[in-house]
Amino acid sequence: MHTRSIYVQAFSLSQLWIDNKNNNNTAMELDKLRYNWIDVEDDIRLYASSLGICSRRIPMDDRRSMCCLPVTVFPSPMERSTFQLAINLQPSINEMIHKISINHQFLEQSLLKLPDEFVAKLFHIYQTVSKQGYAASHQLGIFRSDYMIDQHSNLKQVEVNTISTGFCALTQQVTQLHRYTLKHYQGLSDDQINGHIATNDSLDRVAQSLIDAHRIYSRTDQHSAILFVVQEQEANVMDQKMIEWKMKSLSPDIRIYRRSFRDLDHGIISLGPNQQLLLTTIDKTQVEISVVYFRAAYSSSCFGYENSWKLRLLLEQSRAIKCPSIQLQLAGVKQFQTLLSDRAIFDRFCCSSSPHSDKLFNTYTKFWNISQSARDLVIKNPSEFVLKSNQEGGGNNVFGEQIIDKLDRILSNNENDAYFLMQFIRQKAIKSLLIFKQPPPSSATTSVACQPPPYNQIDSELGIYGSVLVETNGHHIVWNQNAGHLLRSKLSGEKEAGVFSGAGILDTPFLI
Ligand code: ADP
Ligand code: MG
Repeated sequence: MHTRSIYVQAFSLSQLWIDNKNNNNTAMELDKLRYNWIDVEDDIRLYASSLGICSRRIPMDDRRSMCCLPVTVFPSPMERSTFQLAINLQPSINEMIHKISINHQFLEQSLLKLPDEFVAKLFHIYQTVSKQGYAASHQLGIFRSDYMIDQHSNLKQVEVNTISTGFCALTQQVTQLHRYTLKHYQGLSDDQINGHIATNDSLDRVAQSLIDAHRIYSRTDQHSAILFVVQEQEANVMDQKMIEWKMKSLSPDIRIYRRSFRDLDHGIISLGPNQQLLLTTIDKTQVEISVVYFRAAYSSSCFGYENSWKLRLLLEQSRAIKCPSIQLQLAGVKQFQTLLSDRAIFDRFCCSSSPHSDKLFNTYTKFWNISQSARDLVIKNPSEFVLKSNQEGGGNNVFGEQIIDKLDRILSNNENDAYFLMQFIRQKAIKSLLIFKQPPPSSATTSVACQPPPYNQIDSELGIYGSVLVETNGHHIVWNQNAGHLLRSKLSGEKEAGVFSGAGILDTPFLI
């Protein structure tokens, strides 16, 4: 009986893949005869909560109020070779970002002409610190390359993030959640699950990278501590606290402080005589900071506090290891993606002897600068384009017909260089069972009636994390490694897959 059920299961898994290839959009289904959807939804929400797949409720008027984040019930099928390719490309991407970050001329040529106030302010900090001379011996990068898989099964890069790459902790938990649902609602054995679900150690890798950077710094001061620079109001707090807790469990001697720009003002953070970064704690003692981990400062919205920019500069001038340094942050500006889609420029930054250079180059879609002729192209078929700015954090893109109005305003204000057009990446939707964001308590349903499972068409965005530590002088790469993965899905037709800024739902790849 047991053997037969495994056989049936194995058959249905490969059938699932064949059906998806044939565009039949089959998903893993919930056995309606065995399970009541209301109970399943409740069970999965509670299990997800137990794993910390939660956030603060928005608006955050009550810091004690948490809710479960949206998740898919089962993982989403993905071709193993496509997933593996994305994994294989990450070390080359890490190196490319590093090479851009140390090429002063390229940074200057590419970024100075952008009429983007946020990028200009970052660039000013970069110029100030590079003229003064870098005090930090090393720089840490925790990056995430985001991809969509197009209708022809090609991996296409959406963007590369070099600052405050979120979900590195929660995604590892979502993998755990999906191991549970596969086992208990699909009857898969541990061996079957191991065969289809890739190990995801993003939380461990990110925590270990921060610890290792701290150890390198603390050769000079053994009592130093790590500073997380965070937003005053952070919904995605669990993703950050889990890194903190993981670090404390791996290295109980390391102290970690969470502070916003406002918390650091009025002399709470200062520079010592040798550019040491000194944090005054609640008991008025001064602690030297080894590593500054930015989970803020990625967009202008993080600089609302009046002295934020001064503080960002002060942090950069210090000898603490920044994750990321200002130059690694700048190397992640979207403008570079458009430039790297030119093969001649790409070859300057990606070693052509790298076994992956052609494959990496093929992940770029087409880009267009803003011009009257680009507008003419868009008018013919607006749904083929996305209008993007260099801003981070989600919700900044313009899609479809709305692009034309926006283009007209850009062209008439002569702000062409602040934006670019990107080819719209069209995906093959798959059917999936979803658990949406929890409704607020007042509108919570109390009905326990049987409801059919709510299947939806979704598409997904794969993120691959990378970790790199480089010496500031000499540019020696101390490590360059993969650091786990993330899958975010959204209802097809929704525009953006950001979990907080868009319609994103946490997911896991089911490799076939
Ligand atoms: P950011 O996350 O910094 O705001 P992204 O480049 O990741 O900027 O864009 C946000 C979202 O918009 C993506 O997660 C994706 O859902 C959607 N998007 C971006 N570029 C494209 C594209 N070329 N085709 C289809 N969707 C896109
Ligand atoms: Mg993004």
